[in-house]
This record gives sequence, structure tokens and C-alpha cells, in this order.
Amino acid sequence: MSRVSDVPQKARELLTPIPGPKSQALTARHHQFVSAGVGAHMPIFAESASGSTITDVDGNRFIDLAAGIAVTGVGNAAPEVVKAVQGAVAKLTHTNFATTPYESYIEVCEKLAEHTPGDFPKKSVLLNSGAEAVENAVKIARKYTGRSAVIVMENAFHGRTNLTMAMTTKSSPYKQGFGAFAPDIYPVPYSYPLRDAFGTDGVAAAKASIEKIELLVGHDNVAAIIAEPLQGEGGFIVPAEGFLKTLSEWAHEHGVLYVSDEIQSGFCRTGEWFASDHFGVIPDLITTAKALGGGMPISAVTGRAEIMDSVQPGGIGGTYGGNPVSCAAALAAISMMESKDLNARSRHISSLVETSLKPLIEELDTVAEVRGLGAMQAIEFVKPGSMEPNKPLVSRIVSKAMQAGLIILTCGIYGNVIRLLPPLVIDDDELNEALDVLKAIITEESLS
Ligand SMILES: *Cc1c(COP(=O)(O)O)cnc(C)c1O
Repeated sequence: MSRVSDVPQKARELLTPIPGPKSQALTARHHQFVSAGVGAHMPIFAESASGSTITDVDGNRFIDLAAGIAVTGVGNAAPEVVKAVQGAVAKLTHTNFATTPYESYIEVCEKLAEHTPGDFPKKSVLLNSGAEAVENAVKIARKYTGRSAVIVMENAFHGRTNLTMAMTTKSSPYKQGFGAFAPDIYPVPYSYPLRDAFGTDGVAAAKASIEKIELLVGHDNVAAIIAEPLQGEGGFIVPAEGFLKTLSEWAHEHGVLYVSDEIQSGFCRTGEWFASDHFGVIPDLITTAKALGGGMPISAVTGRAEIMDSVQPGGIGGTYGGNPVSCAAALAAISMMESKDLNARSRHISSLVETSLKPLIEELDTVAEVRGLGAMQAIEFVKPGSMEPNKPLVSRIVSKAMQAGLIILTCGIYGNVIRLLPPLVIDDDELNEALDVLKAIITEESLS
């Protein structure tokens, strides 16, 4: 068994105990002035970053396996994005697209039409956050169909605004005490092959959920069914083959719009431009954000032109949506995805992660599954000899990983999943160093 201390520090550089003294001092100010409602996953304060490493205020360098929650896919402070942002902000800081439009907004919409699934005319609206994109997708679906019910998936995460809280099925921390919630939202089971009764039979899982929709709501009342093609916060759950396809076919048969929330899974993260591409599903509307802006805030709803055009002028949009600086960043990020073939990088990352971590399923009775698509991979932990979620073990692993120089995130409705979302530009040596450290910690903590 290899130990953490045996893994040479190359990409990492640890100069102080973690967290270091400057991070500790900032944590004290954080606790004094920042709302306790803003989560703080790791008490390390970032000073700068480059590609797939982050340097903290004490000079310690970490390997980034979070990418700011799948945002900096093209790398942190990517020179191409930095240059585009600097140029854009100096030339045209803001006008508001509805007041005085500019070309870069249109260029982003052209790129969205080009890369999203489906070979038909598409149009987009640009917004600021993921939640805002989801809200707008619901507005557009209701307007187009003249129906109001929205079907969501259990374990889904769609955001923290009032409507998207209603669409998110995890109470704590996202909803606890924040009701009343928006009405006419109906959750049905998502396929969870490791844990549900249908296992790898995605068609049967979909049929059960469809039966529930028909009983609870009736298809005539449903405006849209919205699903993450690979659930993010819910635990990086890859649905069984046939699940999404069956749902989307049912939707199309009944005039229900199929909406894919690709805010976390989009833009090369899974080894395809969009995770829907893996499942042969063509959404009517698709929501994107996170990696779209290469680190700058921007989101979008993209969909069939006739659906996007059903809204009255002025009905969607906003002051900052698709501002010129974020559009410039998005164009630079998308251009990097194209020229560096980040889909291929993502698939390569998947093979390195699987080679390193899959053996743990056999070696340890705490690792139930290593799963994911492309560079969106996760490890689900259980209590030895059972399927009971093991959140305490995950907490210990994350804390040890931080002390050893890794930035990692958790997810899962039971908080028992570690998710790996490295920047897609991470090089093999950096990723292997991170995986060696993580594997040693998982082993040590599982056996202790
Ligand atoms: C992050 C996320 C959101 C919410 O995005 P925000 O920018 O935080 O509002 C919505 N859906 C999915 C799938 C996400 O991962």
C-alpha cells in the first residue's frame, strides 16, 4: 500500500500546515463578515491560479480537481480567456443587449446553435447564472405549450432561486426553511443503477416514472420534463441506457417539451460537447452555464427556433445577460475547446481516472462504485459490507486530501460521493500525482 507521504510533490507545493496562517486569519474575517449561509467547503483562501493548480495566500500550491464546480474546464486564468476579457472590457464594458446590441452576443448564440445537439434551426437567450437559465427554460416551455406543469427528477439540482428550489429535490441545505415553493412542479424517480430496483434496465425505470407522471399529472397538463443527462449535485449518477431516450420519446409523443439541464455536464466535460450526445437524446431546450464562460458569469437557454420565438419581445432577458465581457470570455473558451479538442482530453482523463481508481472497488469494501462520463467522475462510498452511505468517511478523505494539496468536492443526496472535475487541460503528470495521493488517502482512511 502506498502512503500519501510517498507521492513526490511536483505539481503540489506545501510550505505550511494546511490551512496556513494567512488562510486562518482570513477565515476569522470570513466568519465575522460573510453570511453563515454561504457555505465554505475548504478553509483555504486562493491567491492565484493557473491551468489546473491553485496557489493559496500562504504560498501553498494545490492540484485543482474541482475547476470551481466544472467552470474552468479550459483551465484557470487561461491566457486566451484573459486576453479576450481584457480586450473586451477596455473596448465595450456594457450596453445591455436590448438597449444597444453588439456582435459578440450573436456570435455566442451562433456557437451554441452549432455545438448543441439537433440538426434544426436553433436560437438562444443569454443570461447570468445557471438558475436563471433554468427559470427561463420553464417560462419559455410554458409559453410555447400553454401548459403549466413541470416534471423534474428526484435527486435533481437546478439552483437556489424560488422556482429552481422547487425543482430541486434535496431539502437540506437547499430548501430547509425557505418555503413556500413555486407550485406545479412534480418530481419522479431518476434512474440510479447502483441503488434502484431497475438496475441497468433504463427503459423499465423510465416506464415507471412515466406511469407516475400520467397518474399524478396527466400528459395534457405537462409543459416540460427537465432532467440532467448525468446528475451533478445528486451524485454524478449516470442513468441506465434507455432511460433518457424513453422519457424524451414519451415527451415528443405528447407535446411535452424535453429540456436537458447541461449546466454542469456541458461543453466537453463528459467527452462530448453535451452529455445528451452520449444517450442519443435531442432536447427541445438545453440550459448551459458553468464552463460556457471559461470562468466569467454567463448562461444560456438554447432551443428549437419556433419554441424560442414563441415569447413576446421583452419577455426574457435581463440587464447583464450576455454582457460583452462574458461573451468575449465564452468565445475564447469555446475556441479553446475546439482547437485543443477538449472532448478528446476529457475522454483521456476518464481512462486515467478509471485505471487508477476502479481497482479500489475490489480492494476496499468501502468503495461501491467508480462511475461517470469523461472528466466527470465520482466515487461512491458505503459502510463496509453494506450499501449504507458512508458520509463520515468521505468527510475524512476530503479533509486529508486538502492537507495533502488537493482541491476536491463531494456530492450525492447522502453526501457520500467524491466527485472529480479537473480542468480539462490538466496534464497527465499532474492528474496522476493527484490520483496517487487520493488513492493512498482513500485506502488509509478506509482501513483505519
Ligand atoms: C450549478 C447548477 C445549476 C445552478 O447554477 P447556478 O449558476 O449556481 O445558478 C443548475 N443546474 C445544474 C445541473 C447545476 O449543476
